[in-house]
Amino acid sequence: MNPIAFDNSYKQLPQRFYTPQAPEPVPAPAPIRVNRELASALGIDVQWLESAEGTAAIAGNTVPQGAEPIATVYAGHQFGGFNPQLGDGRAVLLGEIVADDGQRFDLQLKGSGPTPYSRGGDGRSPLGPVLREYILCEAMHRLGVPTTRALAAVTTGDVVARDRFLPGAVLARVASSHIRIGTFEYYAARKDVEGLQLLADHAIERHYPETRNSENPVLALLEGVISRQAQLIAQWQLLGFIHGVMNTDNMLICGETIDYGPCAFMDAFNPQQVYSSIDHAGRYAYRSQPGIAHWNLSCLAQSLLPILDDDSEAAVAMAQKAIDAFPEQFLLANTQGMARKLGLEDIGEQDTALVEDLWQLMAEHELDFTLTFRALADLAHERDDAAQTVSALFEFPDALQPWLDRWRARLDQDAKSGEERQSEMDRANPVFIPRNHLVEAAIAAATDNDDLSVFQRLVDVLESPHHYQPELAAFATPPQPEQVVKQTFCGT
Ligand code: AMP
Ligand code: MG
Repeated sequence: MNPIAFDNSYKQLPQRFYTPQAPEPVPAPAPIRVNRELASALGIDVQWLESAEGTAAIAGNTVPQGAEPIATVYAGHQFGGFNPQLGDGRAVLLGEIVADDGQRFDLQLKGSGPTPYSRGGDGRSPLGPVLREYILCEAMHRLGVPTTRALAAVTTGDVVARDRFLPGAVLARVASSHIRIGTFEYYAARKDVEGLQLLADHAIERHYPETRNSENPVLALLEGVISRQAQLIAQWQLLGFIHGVMNTDNMLICGETIDYGPCAFMDAFNPQQVYSSIDHAGRYAYRSQPGIAHWNLSCLAQSLLPILDDDSEAAVAMAQKAIDAFPEQFLLANTQGMARKLGLEDIGEQDTALVEDLWQLMAEHELDFTLTFRALADLAHERDDAAQTVSALFEFPDALQPWLDRWRARLDQDAKSGEERQSEMDRANPVFIPRNHLVEAAIAAATDNDDLSVFQRLVDVLESPHHYQPELAAFATPPQPEQVVKQTFCGT
């Protein structure tokens, strides 16, 4: 029996959508980690995946039966400038897998060698970025955020040359699909209307099948993407997640988070926070993320114009209307999420000042984003076991007391019991997030000392982000001043 039951649909699209490209073999593959839970959900033989054959397949040394590896082509706006041709420069799409529930997934190898879209790059990935993506994407999944996943990671036994020689690695990434806003931009820029239509049909079939028979399926596709992205960006904002490189080639039509390059969860709250070493102008700062998503979605809308309506004026009007709905959708998702974080039934106009003042105070006092909200959950009700609180890790400064009194008074207006409120707040306010200094420590141990145990432990802990255990306090503690990570790097 085949260890992976491939069923490849993107490969059925015309030749100009991709280039057949086998992964390039590596000298000495060794396993890093296998995601058993995800493998089983995809019907992949876990024993095989953990065996030497599985490791060889993830490393790209063998191509499993049924896989038809391709490098896909796309374009994208990078930091606002349009690049008419990008593509999988260090990845191949092995093929697609249909899970038991009928959901279709891409299986991609990242770091698998050069392709026609490498633009002079080596097509490889150092170990650090592979571990970073594994930790971050699996943490995001456990936090309930739509995301690409990590199926497995291996080292290659080779070195890659960056500012120094680093061990090489390959990540097996799973996504509902890798179709990006930039994929649509590629065909639009070439005025390839037939290509656009084929891609739209494919995306609708795959991600928005319920809109297949609507009056204008392309409009429904656009509206669907806008709605999913509004939800997604709200989730990022509510967790203090900064993507760092929100180029249109890094935004997926399926609404999953992709590209864990220079991303970071912030420690102390700062709305202007930027981590990415290449984001000099702060284009992708925390507070700018909703606006950038809106801008990116307008690039998608613009690309779809030729297939939205034969009448170009009508197409523009339709696209504009769809795009104009984004801010309100984002705001609604964000407000509802904030209500859950604060333990409120809902947030009305009369609550705006309460919410704004909290952000203001958090910024002013540089409060830890994650622990501030978790400490509020602690205050919502007496914990059965006092040790379960984060009070040993975080204390509200005196300046917050008036705000806390206002918040408590507001809670009294809702009928909810303290116990119920607390358990809901616990679910909305994680205690364990992949803090930058912990991610960096895991990468340093693996890269410098060949020690993967720090990485393994971190991934394990992040599997239960909402359940605090005092013995894991070190994973919930903000960095000491000397541990603060100030910059993150693209990982190319
Ligand atoms: P990213 O910054 O990961 O979104 O990548 C932007 C583009 O650069 C994509 O087309 C990648 O495939 C390509 N790229 C990034 N790193 C490499 C590399 N090491 N070799 C070849 N292409 C790369
Ligand atoms: Mg990318």
